[in-house]
Amino acid sequence: MNDASLPPPALKLSGVDLSLGAGAARVHVLKDIFVQITAGQTVGLVGPSGSGKSTLLMVMAGLERPDKGRVEVAGTDLTPLSEDALARFRGRHIGIVFQSFHLIPTMTALENVAVPLELAGRADAFARAARELEAVGLGHRATHYPAQLSGGEQQRVAVARALAPEPPILVADEPTGNLDEATGQQIMDLLFAAHRDRGTTLVLVTHDTGLAARCGRVIQVRSGVIAHDSAGEDPAADAAAQAAIGALA
Ligand code: ADP
Ligand code: MG
Repeated sequence: MNDASLPPPALKLSGVDLSLGAGAARVHVLKDIFVQITAGQTVGLVGPSGSGKSTLLMVMAGLERPDKGRVEVAGTDLTPLSEDALARFRGRHIGIVFQSFHLIPTMTALENVAVPLELAGRADAFARAARELEAVGLGHRATHYPAQLSGGEQQRVAVARALAPEPPILVADEPTGNLDEATGQQIMDLLFAAHRDRGTTLVLVTHDTGLAARCGRVIQVRSGVIAHDSAGEDPAADAAAQAAIGALA
């Protein structure tokens, strides 16, 4: 189908190729990747360690530029954007949860969550950040610094920070990877609540079969290529994603 009235895909990678490292350590990480993710889809990126999942996620999020090929987010080609324009674009479109949280150590939990809201010029940044912390069950930890929080609590702060500006797309790198099962379940529920309530497109790198099973689509990465993609295998899941977006439009 190629109906001009359809919204552009949330993410579209065409011929994306990327090598990282220098000299003998140079690795051909992503090899001519084509993938399209519909707005409202929930996608699990799975595959062996070292296969290129994190790099693929960083390319999708516009944090890593490919050597070749094109990345489009919500119909915008990221290639010509300057670093500043790209950062602003990311701020409006993409929430990112890093594997190692990437919280700012000198800021409290509340301040960390408020950062993207302040960057977006939101006058109510701190009130909003406080509500987001409440939503992840950490209202009572607002004035704590990252070092005073457990791994699971830090991950919940990172999720609150990523979701606070209500990005249409959320990418997360092994969001439950370092957590015990119960805490991992809480994080999963938070991410899927954003999908359910706001139609947020989710792209999640994971080793967790339970998390992958909750995704409407699973993409397997192997040695820098897409070895398998469940897209189209489950028309019901694709239709559900479209319906979720339609209901929100
Ligand atoms: P995954 O997330 O699937 O474990 P990554 O995307 O982190 O895989 O890495 C894929 C491959 O690229 C690995 O072989 C890794 O060692 C290599 N790699 C990643 N980042 C760099 C880098 N900055 N310099 C050199 N090699 C890198
Ligand atoms: Mg990784």
